[in-house]
Order: sequence, then structure tokens, then C-alpha cells
Amino acid sequence: MSDFETRVSELTTGTYARIDLDAYARNIARLRALTPPDTAFMAVVKADGYGHGAAQCGLAAQSAGVDYLGVARIHEALYLRQHGVTAPILVLGPPSQGDIAAAIDAHITLTVGTEASLNAVAGVARDRGRTATVHLKLDTGMRRYGFLPTEIVDAAQRAAMSPHLVLEGMFTHFSSADDLVDEITPGQLAEYDRAASDIARVGIEFRFRHTANSAATLRGTLGQSNMVRSGIATYGLSPSAEVPVSAEFEPILSIHSRVARRLLVSPGDGVSYNRTFVANCPTHAADVPIGYADGLPRNVSNHGWYVIHGERCPIIGRVCMDQSIVAVPQSVNEGDDVLILGPGTQGDMTFEDAGALAGTNNYEVATRLTARLPRVYVRNGVPVAFEHLLLNDRGVWDCASASQT
Ligand SMILES: *Cc1c(COP(=O)(O)O)cnc(C)c1O
Repeated sequence: MSDFETRVSELTTGTYARIDLDAYARNIARLRALTPPDTAFMAVVKADGYGHGAAQCGLAAQSAGVDYLGVARIHEALYLRQHGVTAPILVLGPPSQGDIAAAIDAHITLTVGTEASLNAVAGVARDRGRTATVHLKLDTGMRRYGFLPTEIVDAAQRAAMSPHLVLEGMFTHFSSADDLVDEITPGQLAEYDRAASDIARVGIEFRFRHTANSAATLRGTLGQSNMVRSGIATYGLSPSAEVPVSAEFEPILSIHSRVARRLLVSPGDGVSYNRTFVANCPTHAADVPIGYADGLPRNVSNHGWYVIHGERCPIIGRVCMDQSIVAVPQSVNEGDDVLILGPGTQGDMTFEDAGALAGTNNYEVATRLTARLPRVYVRNGVPVAFEHLLLNDRGVWDCASASQT
């Protein structure tokens, strides 16, 4: 075995996340099929690709032909460039002053949503003798970063007049597109369309007009937009319980481990910290090396479950930082495969289940998966790349010599 194969087999015998890049590309195609022809597509890979790994997801989205990648911070965009992403990248959030020069040099598109950031980006571009490509952010109701509708025409004119800026787009963000009854989004969309018309009247057109996140894309609330920005649904996850992805979408990430120790817990024995579970009969149990420091929410303690031998095994006692304990059928042995979390097709806990048990949403569970969890990327059912960020160890695997995970 090559060093590389040895490394991957080491990774896959322990606890790891498996990410199916083909399913990711299929989810992107499903979303694109929901938008009118000629609608551009931005794959949002901020927060390390919602925990799925920004480098591999960014490269996969690029090869799937997306028009843009979206991130929140300049350094996230630089990270994508360092890993070979050449597609256009938009930093959706405010540009940090110290990173603007690096962003311009790396051909990263910046968002300006305040007068100060407009001036800052233009100033750095001027000092470097270059132009910066920017999108304007319009605040239609989130009340965070962005120009107000009363400010936007003036901002657009100043940006368009600056010799240091290329004004490429304008966007807004919806607050409530994932609500069951959404009386908010139509108003936000109308406000956006009004601003775009006002700006068109002074002779400024945008190549990219974008408003829709995953929820609005699923609902088809696009107005005059010609690009959508989708994050959560590309990973096969639902924006909310009220606005779910359809059944054909595939969650692309699953977490796997192996039984580290088999034990029989005697009646009266407590399990894990603070002994919040006490056995009332002889209980077969298994210790599994995954904990909240890998990103499993501690609040799934005593409520969540793993799947072993196709059966749901309840978590007993507190999830520790590095380990957790489940009650198991007698047939389970040390070394057996454990499905921690996945698409739910084998009765496994989903991101939605874990979020519900932890009092949060699937987005937060996904983005909190930590650097300690190795990522193994799969195409055509075989591992093609891995990342072990804690060891700063990563690589691509030759498919021909790969074995099934
Ligand atoms: C994160 C983000 C998105 C993606 O939202 P999803 O609900 O994951 O599709 C789109 N636009 C902006 C501005 C964002 O910050």
C-alpha cells in the first residue's frame, strides 16, 4: 500500500465523515432545474462548506459548472484560491480592511454595504493600480450589513463612477423565506426590484441580480433575479422543517465510527459523567470514539442514537468530549461499524434530528463539525480525496487503486 492508501485506511478505521461529491453535484443540478433557464447559480461554501469541507466542495461545484462560489469572509475566499478554485468567488459579508488588498490580488469579488466599505475597497484598488469587482448589498429587512433603499441609488452611482470599481451585481437577503407562512419575502423582493429599477433609470445595469437563498429557490420566489445563492440545499439538507427539500435531494455527508469497547453494564451502574443513565437491568453497551469535540452536540446525550447492524442503539449517559456510549444488541462486537449520523435512510440520526434534540437547527450542527473529524470524499462510491485538517494532511486518491469505504 502507498503511504496515501495507508493514511486513508487509517482514517477510515476510526471516526470520520464521508462526503459524496457526486450527490453534491446532483443536488446542485436539482436546484438549477428549479430555476428559469439562464439563471446563474452560486454555490455557498462558507463556514468550511457548512462543515463539509470548502476546498473539496468548492472544487466539485466548480467542476459542476456553477457560476459563482459564495463565502462570508475574505480569508475563506483566499483558502479556496489556495486550493485551486479559479471560479468567481463573492465574499457575502463585510470586507475586513486588512484583507482587501489580498482579495483584489486574488480576483475575489467583494460586497460593499456601507459607504465606508465602498471607499475602503476603492481606495485599496486605487493604491494597487487595479480595479476591484464589487456587488452592492441592499438591506431590505435583515437589518444587518447593507445599504438602505434610501441610500442605494446614490451608492450605485458612486460605485459606477469610480474608476477603481467594477460594479457587477446587487443583492439582498431574505429573513423569512423558510417560514411556513411567509408574508415577509414578497415585500423584500418588491423593495429589491424597486431599487433595481430606480438604479436602471439612472443608467446602471447589473450583470448579477440575486436575492434567493435555498428556501426562496425551492419556493421559486425569484422576482427579477438572474442568480440564486444556495447553501444548505446543495448539501441535501432542508432550510427548515416548513420548507424542506424534496425527497429526491440527498444529504451528502454521513459520520462513521467503530465500536472501541464492548461491555455489560450491571444493574445499578451509572454510565458516563454524572451518571445521568443508570442501568436497571444488565445492559449490553458499546463505547464509540466520537464526542462533542468532533461536533456531535452534547445535548443529544440520553436522547440521540447510532445505528449498528441496522439497528438503532440509544445513546446512554452524557456524550463526552471524545467518546460516547450506546446500548447495543448482544451481537455487537468490538470493531463493528457504527453509523453516527447520515441521511436517515437506515434509521440513522439526521442533521435535523440532532438539531432538534440539541435545540438548534441543522445548519448549526453541520457547521460545528470540527477539524478533528477527518473528511473522506467519495465519487462513484470510492474515496477520491481526504482531509485531516488537524494534521494539515490532505490529498487526492487515485480512483483506480481505491477500495470501497
Ligand atoms: C449563507 C447565505 C446564503 C445561503 O443560505 P442557505 O439558506 O444555506 O441557502 C445565501 N445568501 C447569503 C447572503 C448568505 O449569507
